[in-house]
Amino acid sequence: MAVNKEAYIQIKKELEAKNVTLVAVSKTKPASDILELYELGQRDFGENYVQELMEKAEQLPNDIRWHFIGHLQSNKVKYIAPFVHLIHGVDSEKLLKEINKQAAKLNQTIDVLLQIHIAKEETKFGLDEEELNILINTNGSGLHELKNVKICGLMGMASFSEDLDLVRREFEFLKNLFDKYANLQISNLKFQILSMGMSSDYQIAIEEGSTMVRIGSLLFGARNYVK
Ligand SMILES: *Cc1c(COP(=O)(O)O)cnc(C)c1O
Repeated sequence: MAVNKEAYIQIKKELEAKNVTLVAVSKTKPASDILELYELGQRDFGENYVQELMEKAEQLPNDIRWHFIGHLQSNKVKYIAPFVHLIHGVDSEKLLKEINKQAAKLNQTIDVLLQIHIAKEETKFGLDEEELNILINTNGSGLHELKNVKICGLMGMASFSEDLDLVRREFEFLKNLFDKYANLQISNLKFQILSMGMSSDYQIAIEEGSTMVRIGSLLFGARNYVK
């Protein structure tokens, strides 16, 4: 299935008017598809799998900003640390510490988002409100020590549901959490990015305050397989 350039141009325009960043989610799609959008000016791309991301990053232009949006295992951080732009799915202190460690080795800082579990489904990863509170407050002093990560905001995935009111309430919940910490400024924590919304629900997400959407199938067509 071909890249839908018309959809890209239209969505891009819509998002620019609202000051929302578009991450084009290219998982399972070939590098040639990514290049097609690159040539139209797209620079932010999202991938879910470490191996796949490494292969694509090697083949594609250096000024692409790679977003890691999948579930990241601690032992794989080292592979993407040298070039990743933003890691969206940080859902444990252990992972946060490992990212900090790898970034320190490289003498750099890595930007991350904390993933919050907002959906009904059990299968979606993420921290709940209490875990977020603990991570930020109880370990707040500990966060200071993680000098090589910058916590830039929150990420969440709504329920995969036809019930759009439910989806909206889940985004609204995430936005409220985001606002709760928006004024908090620890040296390495400053909330500026709220990553929520995908092909099926990005308009609702924007209405509820998203600043960054992750859109795959509307741009690249349906994925043939689930990896
Ligand atoms: C695959 C994926 C997307 C994009 O999904 P579409 O429905 O194809 O837009 C967005 N976010 C995450 C975390 C994903 O895994």
